[in-house]
Amino acid sequence: MTDIIQLLPDHVANQIAAGEVVQRPASVVKELVENAIDAGSGNIQVVIKDAGKTLIQVVDDGKGMSLTDARMCFERHATSKIKTAEDLFSLQTKGFRGEALASIAAIAHVELKTKPEDDEVGTQIKVEGSKVTNQDVCVCPKGTSVSVKNLFYNIPARRNFLKSDAVETRHIIDEFQRVALAHPQIGFSLFHNGSELFQLPETNHRQRITNIFGGKTNEKLVPVTEETEIVEISGFVGKPEFAKKSRGEQFFFVNNRFIKSPYLNHAVVAAFEGLLKDKSYPSYFLFLNVDPKSIDINIHPTKTEIKFDDEHALYAILRSAIKHSLGQFNVAPVLDFDRDANLDTPYDYKNRSAEVPQVEVDRNFNPFQEENARTHKTGSSSFSSNFRKERGESWESLYTGLQTEDTPKPDSDFREIEFESEEVTGNLFQPSQDTEEKSTFQLHKKYIVSTLKSGILVIDQHRAHTRILYEEMLKNITVSAAVSQQLLFPLNLQFNTHEVEIIKQLQDSLEQTGFVFSEIKTDSVEIVGIPTLISESEVEILLEQLIADFENDVPDNGFSQTDLLAKSLAKGMAVKSGTLLNNTEQQHIVNRLFACKEPGLSPSNRSVFVTLTVDELDKKFM
Ligand code: ADP
Ligand code: MG
Repeated sequence: MTDIIQLLPDHVANQIAAGEVVQRPASVVKELVENAIDAGSGNIQVVIKDAGKTLIQVVDDGKGMSLTDARMCFERHATSKIKTAEDLFSLQTKGFRGEALASIAAIAHVELKTKPEDDEVGTQIKVEGSKVTNQDVCVCPKGTSVSVKNLFYNIPARRNFLKSDAVETRHIIDEFQRVALAHPQIGFSLFHNGSELFQLPETNHRQRITNIFGGKTNEKLVPVTEETEIVEISGFVGKPEFAKKSRGEQFFFVNNRFIKSPYLNHAVVAAFEGLLKDKSYPSYFLFLNVDPKSIDINIHPTKTEIKFDDEHALYAILRSAIKHSLGQFNVAPVLDFDRDANLDTPYDYKNRSAEVPQVEVDRNFNPFQEENARTHKTGSSSFSSNFRKERGESWESLYTGLQTEDTPKPDSDFREIEFESEEVTGNLFQPSQDTEEKSTFQLHKKYIVSTLKSGILVIDQHRAHTRILYEEMLKNITVSAAVSQQLLFPLNLQFNTHEVEIIKQLQDSLEQTGFVFSEIKTDSVEIVGIPTLISESEVEILLEQLIADFENDVPDNGFSQTDLLAKSLAKGMAVKSGTLLNNTEQQHIVNRLFACKEPGLSPSNRSVFVTLTVDELDKKFM
């Protein structure tokens, strides 16, 4: 048999390896910027065209390369950063594999211009698909400029696989922010299609965070510092009341390298225990410095995971450092670390006096009332009395021990007392109820129960309201031009660049719902009109929710964009579970729900109501 195994030609091997390192334009930005940092630059400029698909250029003022190095840097495994395997354990640089430039040059048109400070002239080299096509001397300033054009030009499958410009730009912004946050002592700028997205002067960590995430961030930050033998921690956490609806502002850096760590994230969240509202995420910008020997970053070129020697200790230190900071800055009342955190009172409770628990009885509840049964003025307390009749006196035992001032002892006067007081309130506050027959009541502040001829209907109030608002919103957008209410004073909302990008992409659709933007800057938006369905105080929360919902992908397609937008806004505006609804509100929801095109399903395809027919009930009683 003849031999069939051959070594792959270099350019093929490079192309294959490139797939590992370069997944999208953002990976190129990351690699080039990291090289610029490793070269000791004081200023780094990133220029992007068409989300990096046409051009990615990184210009630095670092140490530059000699002519030979400029040729060498495109070879695979060519690096100036480590010499021996031992060097891996004392790594101070971002790069060390010597793979990035070789990979990028295998799948794009690359032009390099570089000059060390002391040299008279610099070197210019052009590489296309791993082949050097041109080499020349050039006049250029100290430092290095790398231009990457037509990324993936020779791997059409990869190129087609790229997402929309908007999505790719956001990936680039993410990478850019990560390195910029880790290196405040370096000036950075980012330009996209000629417009400036970031201009970050050299500064300190706090100022850098503020420059990236907007002016108001500063007042939200609580400093965290801790020094122990195994780790030095510095950085900031956001005050709990500013916790976001998305995880957008959570950053860990280990030895100035951005990493993701669900485990350490848990430590932070644990430190915030009791301080956060449901489903909100604390912001954090935490810089951990550890001995390079105690970590293993050699896992994968593009992975952001990292292995620590002593993760448990790190967890404990991080958690207590943050708790300490939150306590010290009066954000939380906790100063004593040995105490069980579960025993601590969440801070927004600390000024409240303890309340006597109350028993809630819905006095309007009357599932057994028949169409033309007793029609006393408010229809109240008939539940108690009827219930009592049915069950004899024994039900009273259910309430033993639960009585408070508000729940009178169920003695023989119970019905009368209730009746009187209810009647007075009824007359004063609910005049319209006089004539209306009540056919709904609320269960657990979550469900609206309504009687049907054939049985009962249990409606999830949040989903029902979401369905109603969703259809209304879609109608506004697609059929009629949405009406918007003019705001007396323009509303100025701060967002970070990333968030503003999302709003920009959604601007058309948002305007169709009734939003009117007077100005969109890189870190804020000014709103002068809002949809009539929304109140001014809700706007910020709704937009935040919206951004969180669109964080991962903004569909280009107008229809699905509108649809998602309507879903997100409806979800945000709808009454939540846990909200007490009065009878008029309950009726309103029921009536409007059944005027919907698809009352049975929430916009996210979940059941809105269930029915229980008399037949089914009968069966249960067999
Ligand atoms: P690595 O960064 O892992 O060493 P790269 O392929 O990214 O591998 O770069 C190869 C080498 O080229 C680097 O080790 C460095 O010596 C040189 N180099 C790359 N970019 C720059 C730059 N902007 N300034 C100076 N030298 C650079
Ligand atoms: Mg590198």
